[in-house]
Amino acid sequence: MTSICLLYPELLGTYGDGGNAVVLAQRLRWRGIDADIVEVTAGAPVPSSCDVYLMGGGEDGPQTLAVAELNESRALHVAVDRGAAVLAVCAGFQLLGESFTGGDGRPAAGLGLVDAVTSHGPGARRVGEIVAEPDPALGLPTLTGYENHQGVTRLGAGARPLGHVMIGRGNDAGDGGEGAIAGRVVGTYLHGPVLARNPALADLILSWVTGPLPALDDTEASVLRSERMAAAAGRRLRPGAT
Ligand code: GLN
Repeated sequence: MTSICLLYPELLGTYGDGGNAVVLAQRLRWRGIDADIVEVTAGAPVPSSCDVYLMGGGEDGPQTLAVAELNESRALHVAVDRGAAVLAVCAGFQLLGESFTGGDGRPAAGLGLVDAVTSHGPGARRVGEIVAEPDPALGLPTLTGYENHQGVTRLGAGARPLGHVMIGRGNDAGDGGEGAIAGRVVGTYLHGPVLARNPALADLILSWVTGPLPALDDTEASVLRSERMAAAAGRRLRPGAT
């Protein structure tokens, strides 16, 4: 049984990010592997025994509540130490880092699971379709998603970007980076849900905890991906991209 923990969907669940749990579970079931989704709401204890942990996007206030609970229990830290995988989107990504801008507009301590610092970026929110080329070492096809955030995330030496932004803004720290990866911990600004749009990323994360997985027929996802890539083409290239 592979267990997938969906953390605080009522606090961190914008743009259907909870769908990432459904995608992971279903891709296992299609292969005949049992999967269980464990939903944890605020105030409930977080199990440290799950295989994959998911956090979604959220507003500044709710994300501050979520990080306070996780830093108090340290259950996610324990899980990561034992090799669990984490996928965190937008607000979830921001709170994986060392600090982020909290609900009161001031820096708040993050979980410290990724070497990254997020602050409120200048100007308008970064909103729209986003396309990124993943780190070649991951062996993944182009990433597609939707972003909506004020935060700008700078990575430190202990994390590398998940990908390089082609269209949209991503981390928007001036280096073209999108998201972060540190061991089995992945952060990204891509909503979508990201794993519905990028099934190869879903399988990469699953393979970390299950071992190699046989391929599935992803024809339907390919149609969605093409449609979303075409939609993204209407958005400006990342400033500075050629
Ligand atoms: N509140 C954060 C920001 O605006 C995250 C937003 C989100 O998760 N969509 O940067």
